[in-house]
Amino acid sequence: MSDEIYNKAGNIIIKAGMLPFPITDTLKELLKILYTREELEFIIRTFKRKKSQTIDELIKSSNMDKEDIIRIIEPLTDKGAVFKSTSSSGLVIYRLLPPIFIGIFEYFLMKKITYSEEEKKVAILFEILFEEIRDIIQDKYEMFMPAFSTVPPIDRTIPLLKTNVGKDIKIEINQEIDSPEEMILPKQDIAEIIKSFEDIAVGHCFCRQHQDLLGHSCEFNAPREVCFTLGKSARFTSEHGFARMITQEEALKLIEDAAEAGLVHKVYHPQGNISKEETSICNCCKDCCGTFNLWKKGTMPMINWSNYLSNIDQDLCVGCGTCVERCPTDAIKLNDEGKAERNPDICIGCGVCAHFCPENAISLLEGVRKVFVPPPRIKL
Ligand code: SF4
Ligand code: SF4
Ligand code: SF4
Repeated sequence: MSDEIYNKAGNIIIKAGMLPFPITDTLKELLKILYTREELEFIIRTFKRKKSQTIDELIKSSNMDKEDIIRIIEPLTDKGAVFKSTSSSGLVIYRLLPPIFIGIFEYFLMKKITYSEEEKKVAILFEILFEEIRDIIQDKYEMFMPAFSTVPPIDRTIPLLKTNVGKDIKIEINQEIDSPEEMILPKQDIAEIIKSFEDIAVGHCFCRQHQDLLGHSCEFNAPREVCFTLGKSARFTSEHGFARMITQEEALKLIEDAAEAGLVHKVYHPQGNISKEETSICNCCKDCCGTFNLWKKGTMPMINWSNYLSNIDQDLCVGCGTCVERCPTDAIKLNDEGKAERNPDICIGCGVCAHFCPENAISLLEGVRKVFVPPPRIKL
């Protein structure tokens, strides 16, 4: 396959996402493994100008007949390279997906892994691609940061409500949090979100499975089957074998298990727009979560909606360090007096610290916040 096809298709596939990055040899290698030549040619023919199209639009843009289009595009949906949905008026829409930040990387690793040689190779190549993107971001740090600061939050944190011994985590209203005026966040209770959907599917955690394939097993042994898709996304992921449909009861049980394990609940909205209903729920661990790790490694900012901020009662704190160890964003340190102190700028209000604190010394202060933390400057 000539390089030309990778360059052309790679360009179109990258543009389907929000993060621009150059076509590297690693990306070309991934395209070679994950797509057939016919699929890449089809992408070049059809998706150059518009990333979401109906069948009629695809017929026009590709100059192919419907039968041929379906024969090529359906396998692309089965590999998570194209998203297929049905609009409220019944129109089927195909949307080209990017390689990463919700695209073929996530869908490929949402299916239960078998540890095949191909899976391992793809996992390594994606890891290299993330490193390459980190180097580009670090090289042009000043150029990327202003653009990042205008990006809507990627996810929204939903707090844990119970400690690991089943006590309620104390929640207090706090006027000191500088909330944007008239900003009210949607549902704050993960069970309420689950209950508001008829269609729920669960798939495997692509971050933990990515780490599994790289030979790193989750330090917290967090459950793998905890990635929920909701509504339209649930129908897509279940119909294409990335996840399985479950009942509300089963979803509530799995969410309860994730909360007991002290995982961070994060919900996602279309284009980060929280006035639109949730599309998916993640249950993340500090060790494997891509969002936390890409931020810590200097690749991406952490951009999050939160309605809470942790609050540590210094009189109750005995300085055991559990919260320091568990906080997914490393927002807590022990001070000179050996007491826990939290940095408000990087707290996402997840309640993990309160969940694990053996002294019940941590409560959550209520108030809407957008958390934006640029990635650290890394010496390459
Ligand atoms: S974001 Fe969290 S739950 Fe979702 S795949 Fe990554 S670690 Fe797993
Ligand atoms: S877990 Fe609780 S007691 Fe331990 S350091 Fe943190 S706040 Fe203090
Ligand atoms: S301090 Fe850390 S663990 Fe506690 S709520 Fe904030 S981000 Fe979560």
